[in-house]
Amino acid sequence: MSVILPVAQRGDVILTLKAASVVESEFNSAWLNELAAAMQATMLERNGVGIAAPQVYVSKRVIIVASRPNLRYPDAPEMDAVVMVNPEILEQSEVTVLGEEGCLSVPNERGQVTRAETIKVQYFTLQGELVETVFQGFPARIVQHEIDHLNGILFVDRLSA
Ligand code: ZN
Repeated sequence: MSVILPVAQRGDVILTLKAASVVESEFNSAWLNELAAAMQATMLERNGVGIAAPQVYVSKRVIIVASRPNLRYPDAPEMDAVVMVNPEILEQSEVTVLGEEGCLSVPNERGQVTRAETIKVQYFTLQGELVETVFQGFPARIVQHEIDHLNGILFVDRLSA
């Protein structure tokens, strides 16, 4: 059983900070594994499709992406939750898509956000293995939303007027 953590809310300073990278000695550590497990449990409990460590008051570059079909994105692929440590967008398509977003840290608010349609991402697994992968559509949107959290940006900061 994993711990359910409190979720930081808009206005909390931690959501505006640039999170620190996970360093080599932290890979494969008990605390990193426990952090990821608690983040996942918290995300599932809140019905989220993604979560970033700063949202549970840990200013570290760890995100989880877990796309599944939903009312707003019925064609979204169902995927196993992917934990990404120190994720980086290597390439992004010039083609952008406008889509609705919400956030566990911004309750009762949704908005239209422009995101790259396709991104190539590099990240480390919890064990420190380097992975490079391409995401498209809704999963790509989640990755961009969660990486924004690592840089102190909320989707509401990206809404066009
Ligand atoms: Zn969010």
